[in-house]
Formats: sequence, C-alpha cells, structure tokens
Amino acid sequence: MILLNFFLFLFLKVIGAETEHKTVHLWRAQGDFNDTVLNKFYERASQGEDIWIRENGTIDFLLYNEEQDQIAAYLKEHGLNQTVLIHDVRGKLDEALVKTFPTKRNAVTGDSFTWTAYPSLHEINEYLIKMAATYPTHCKISTIGKTAHFKPIHMLKITNGASNNKAILVDSGTHGREWTSVISTLYFIDSIVPKFYQQPAYVTTKDWYIIPVLNPDGYDYSLTTDRLWRKNRRRLSGMCYGIDLNRNFAYGWAKEESTQNVCSSNYCGPVPFSEEETKAFKRVVDGKHFIGYLSIHSAGTKVLYPRGADHDDHHKHLFMTKEIALAMRKIGGLQFLNRDIEKMGKIRYGMAIDWMFFVKQVQHSYILETRGHNGLDYIPPEQILPAAKEVTAGLMKFAEKFR
Ligand SMILES: [Zn+2]
Repeated sequence: MILLNFFLFLFLKVIGAETEHKTVHLWRAQGDFNDTVLNKFYERASQGEDIWIRENGTIDFLLYNEEQDQIAAYLKEHGLNQTVLIHDVRGKLDEALVKTFPTKRNAVTGDSFTWTAYPSLHEINEYLIKMAATYPTHCKISTIGKTAHFKPIHMLKITNGASNNKAILVDSGTHGREWTSVISTLYFIDSIVPKFYQQPAYVTTKDWYIIPVLNPDGYDYSLTTDRLWRKNRRRLSGMCYGIDLNRNFAYGWAKEESTQNVCSSNYCGPVPFSEEETKAFKRVVDGKHFIGYLSIHSAGTKVLYPRGADHDDHHKHLFMTKEIALAMRKIGGLQFLNRDIEKMGKIRYGMAIDWMFFVKQVQHSYILETRGHNGLDYIPPEQILPAAKEVTAGLMKFAEKFR
C-alpha cells in the first residue's frame, strides 16, 4: 500500500507539472452533422486533438474541462445529442495505473510476468534477453536499432530453422501509451517459446519476427511521466517533442493535414522514415519477404485491414480478419469487429499497415486492436491476461489459416 501511494504521488506530481489544468473528458456527439459542424471537428483534429468519426452520425472526442459549456451549447444549437462517455479520462487512467503500475513486487515473477501489471522497459528487455539465452535452439535476439535516447529496439526471431518457412512480422508498442499491446505480444512469446516443439506445426513452421516495443522511448515516457504519451521522444523545434511513428511511413505520407502539425499527437515527421524506429523497421522489412504483418495496438476491440486492395485481395483480407476476430472473441465473448481502416474513421496516411501491403507487397497486413475503445488503454489488472490471450488467439489463428 505504501508503495502504491508512493507511485501515485510520483505520477500525479509529474503529470501535474506537465499538463496543468488539463482535466479531459470523452464526449460523444450524435445526429445529423452539417458541414459547419463537421468543419469545426476537422479543425479540432488539425490542431492535434483526438477525435473519432464513426459511420452512423457519431463523433467521439476528447474535451477539456473549460470547454464543456461552450461545446455543449454549440452542439445543442445545431440539434445534436451529446453524452459524456468517460468523465475525467486522466483520472480513470491514473486509477488504472495505480492498480497496474510495474513494481518489482507484482509485474515480474520468476522467469516470467504476473500478467496483472505492466512491466517496465528494463524488465521487458531483461526478459527478452533471458528468453534468447534459455532457448537458443529456436529463439534469437537482435538489436535492430537505437532510439534518439539511445535505447535499444529489440527483435526476437523464433524459428525451427527450416529454410522454407514463411516469415511473419509482429510488432507492438508503436504508440507509447498502448501498454496492453506490449504485454499481449509478450504473452504470445511466453506462450510459444518455452514449449516451442510442442506447438502445432502451423506455429513451428513459421519464422516469427517479433518487435515487442517498437517505440521504447515513448513506452518508457508513458510509464514514468505522461500516461497519455503516444509518439516517440525526439526533440523537435521549440517546446514540442516526438513523431507519431505510425504516420512516418512512405505511403500516402503527410497527405492528411492534421499530421503536419509539429506539436500534434500524430505528427508525421519532416520526411518519411525520418525516425530511428521506423528506419530500423524498414531495414528489417527490406531484408526479408514477409507474408504477414500483424501490428498490435490498444485499444479498440477490432481487427483492421488496408483500404483499396483489389477484389481478390480484399476477399482474402475479409476472410482472414474475420477468422482472427472470431478467435479473439472466443476468449472472453467480446465482439471484435473486422473492418477496413477508413471505415473506422481512422486518419490513415503514412501508416505501416498500408506501406507493408501496397509498397512491400505483404499479402496480409493487419492491425489487431486489444479490448477497449477509442484508443484509451486502461483496464483493471484482472483484464490484462484475457486481453493478452485474445491477441495470442488472433496470432495463432492467423498462423493456422495462412496457406
Ligand atoms: Zn496505436
């Protein structure tokens, strides 16, 4: 208890210093949006505020305390319904953080994790190094790059060594605050590496390339300083830090205006592949032909595929993502939706999933979004393991169904 209080104090103190007065709520507006209202929301997005536009006349958006009255009146004036989905998002995240924060006491046990708290970056790196040392016949570790803050980006290769295996790339932790994506990938590793040769042939006859934390600086900063941090931590001009790695890929890069704002949470960077993390990723992909790319993000209860594939590929994507979504659903009964990224109202430019499919011709390029909604990654400790099992079931199903 003393430990928990200490971490709470530390966290609130740092948050307070960085983002004073920023109590933030998640609102939903519903109804017939005319162009004036839509433009107001687009303007919001272009200033770097998080909004999620949905198909059925619904917009979810984060809103600061002091804006509430004004926006409520505005929506009412335009005949739109409004609901507060989450009151005090940061408060809720803090609450979840207090329960799930990594401490020596509860994130790590023996050679593995407890799956009821999120490990620190240091604990993750130690674990990966130990895995490779303990199971050298089929598990190898490499450092594919170093971040702006000189943190190593690790990749595990899991293989039976056969030369005709198809290769699958899995990554997570692209966005610093998406802790559940990272622990889910770690759970997958933990599920297949120790008893690798007892796994089904569809697992052992693939070469798995796994990058559990693509954005180590962002993950670490989110754990220690700002829970809502999304980008990497490279220093830019003035007061702004960080590039959204998932807007830094060379396909449709910077076409969406909101990604060009240096201070926004989805800034695309000065040029494609400007970042050490995306450069490292590109080196891996340029050196190997992958048949599958599965990128784990938090949170949305979804499986997403690229938009704009031709008829045959579209059908393959539809079939595969449906299979993955159903396998994920079997774990806890949650309905994972399979959709193309545009239908989900995602601003899609410069994303890895598109670059992998359209440029690198990876046949199956998907995003698996862990349980939860609107990218707000907070779940109580007892839900971490089910969330991780869902992702693992999805990855297993992909390996099973790929021919
Ligand atoms: Zn993400």
